[in-house]
Amino acid sequence: MRLSTITNWAYGATVALTLLSGATMLLASGAEERERAAVSQRATFDQLTSTVEEDVYRLTEQARSFVITGDPSHVIAYQREKVALRSVEQRIRHLRDAGASITELQALQQALHWADALSDEQEAALRAAEKGDARTARTILFGDEYGREMDRVAAQVAKFQYMLDQRTQQAVDNATDTARAWRTMSEVMLGITALLFLCVLYFILKQRILHPVVRLSDVVTRLAAQDYAAIPPDLRQVDEIGDMAQAIRIFRENGLERQRLEKERDQDRALRDLLSRMTQRLQGCDDMDDLAEVVRRFTPEIAPRFPGRLYMLDSRRNAMAQACAWGEPVLSRPDFAPSACWAVRRGQTHSPAGDAIDICCDHLGEQANVATICMPLIAQGKSIGMLYFERPSDIASQDVGRTDIYLGMLAENIGLALANLRLRDALRDMAMADALTGLANRRHFDQALQVQIEQAERHHAPLACLMIDIDHFKRFNDMFGHDAGDAVLRAVGEVLGDSLREEGCAFRLGGEEFVLLMPGFAIERAMERAEQVQRAIRDLRVEYRGKALGQITASFGLSAFPDHGAAERLVQTADAALLRAKRDGRDRIVVATRRDASASAVA
Ligand code: GH3
Ligand code: MG
Ligand code: MG
Repeated sequence: MRLSTITNWAYGATVALTLLSGATMLLASGAEERERAAVSQRATFDQLTSTVEEDVYRLTEQARSFVITGDPSHVIAYQREKVALRSVEQRIRHLRDAGASITELQALQQALHWADALSDEQEAALRAAEKGDARTARTILFGDEYGREMDRVAAQVAKFQYMLDQRTQQAVDNATDTARAWRTMSEVMLGITALLFLCVLYFILKQRILHPVVRLSDVVTRLAAQDYAAIPPDLRQVDEIGDMAQAIRIFRENGLERQRLEKERDQDRALRDLLSRMTQRLQGCDDMDDLAEVVRRFTPEIAPRFPGRLYMLDSRRNAMAQACAWGEPVLSRPDFAPSACWAVRRGQTHSPAGDAIDICCDHLGEQANVATICMPLIAQGKSIGMLYFERPSDIASQDVGRTDIYLGMLAENIGLALANLRLRDALRDMAMADALTGLANRRHFDQALQVQIEQAERHHAPLACLMIDIDHFKRFNDMFGHDAGDAVLRAVGEVLGDSLREEGCAFRLGGEEFVLLMPGFAIERAMERAEQVQRAIRDLRVEYRGKALGQITASFGLSAFPDHGAAERLVQTADAALLRAKRDGRDRIVVATRRDASASAVA
């Protein structure tokens, strides 16, 4: 049964019992009223009948006094008393209806009748006295007969009063019993009503107030201690407690939301700290390997559960090459053509996921049920790399947007660092390279020479240096123009660049002077290489604007460490040898001698 039904029934019963007890109280008070009426009737009868008795005595007294004294005032008093007695008799007769029984009334009538008879005798005695017959009058009033009649009247009045007492006592007893019974019943009902009322009050207090308040207080205490697992009771009652439960529910929801936001904010701050640290490390990277190492270490911390790969564009091969990977990604080849990735092609993040129809990148390889994210790393509108992620399948949908923002920031930072590094490399290359021939320039040669000398000395390894100067180069300029001279320089530069492959480095020192640094080359091997270069230059057929520029020759000065002295004198020694080659008639290779070394030392 519902709580409200129970309380409604209890209210109804309480009201009914209250009404009933009120009714019994009214009945009890009616019985008391009857009791009071009986008592009052009895008092009235008592008073009147005793008045009758007294009056009879007083009339007798007045009559006897007149007979004895002859004083007429007694007659006057007698007459007055008689009138009073009449009026009393009159009133007694009117009282007949007031509950007196026939036998009582008959007894009363008899008393009055005898009182009237006495009155007649008094009249007769008075008349006799007035006529002077005092003797007769005394005989009547003082005779035994008169005395007996008076006693008879008194006895009859006493009898009536006794009967009246009997009846009145009965009525009073009955009324008292009834009143007591009703009163008791009324008291019992009042008691039951009070008990029921108290029970209802207790029930309501406990079920609807105390119980919910205790539960709500428990929840409030736990919520105050930030224990949001406490769930407020679902009290739907329309009262203050219902309002309180509703308010606590809202408070808890707000607290949960605040807690979620705080957690998100903390995570956000931690991620931003990581991102900022990663950016600082990226800025300190010297080369691509450094950059790949920083990305490999930081990315799994910033985007945990997102395995992925970093690709960098290899411009020479026109390929996206994997620089590093983390978290064991299952898809995407380590090497692919840039056109195989939609993100690289479009310059925008490509993330085919969910049920939406989309196209997958070719580089993903075999199809697996994995949501992938390709983010291009862009510099000056060009994709210079690509950040690849695999999205975990169980990620909450509300977290997707947030993590995508971090991945975007990550891609932006890595892209920026990559672009900076490439720009720095490009600038360095530009500073170190000769624009005309593409060979390394003099500045680069000075640095490289230093490094090679140190290495050769440290490892006691041979190091050869071949100085090259084009013969009569000025003639090309003079005969065919400066641009034709440039064409000759480019052609010779190409020969020199190709001559060493990975085994050494060719430099243009300036003008039409070149040098080859050959680490690990002893003099014999260096000589062979010099002869190859000489032949290749001789074989060059350079044309400019359709005109053959004629044969090109060059003079060579070769020196080697340790054969020709200290490593730091290598260049000067080769220079001295080149000078001799020029002096000796050009188009030849002159190997340095010890004399060259000492001559260069003197110089
Ligand atoms: P030798 O056989 O004695 O070396 O004679 P040479 O004419 O080769 O030597 P010289 O030093 O007299 O002349 C070098 C010329 O090279 C002078 C300069 O005008 C020219 N030259 C220097 N740099 C360049 C350049 O970058 N392009 C062109 N076209 N000519 C250059
Ligand atoms: Mg020269
Ligand atoms: Mg020259």
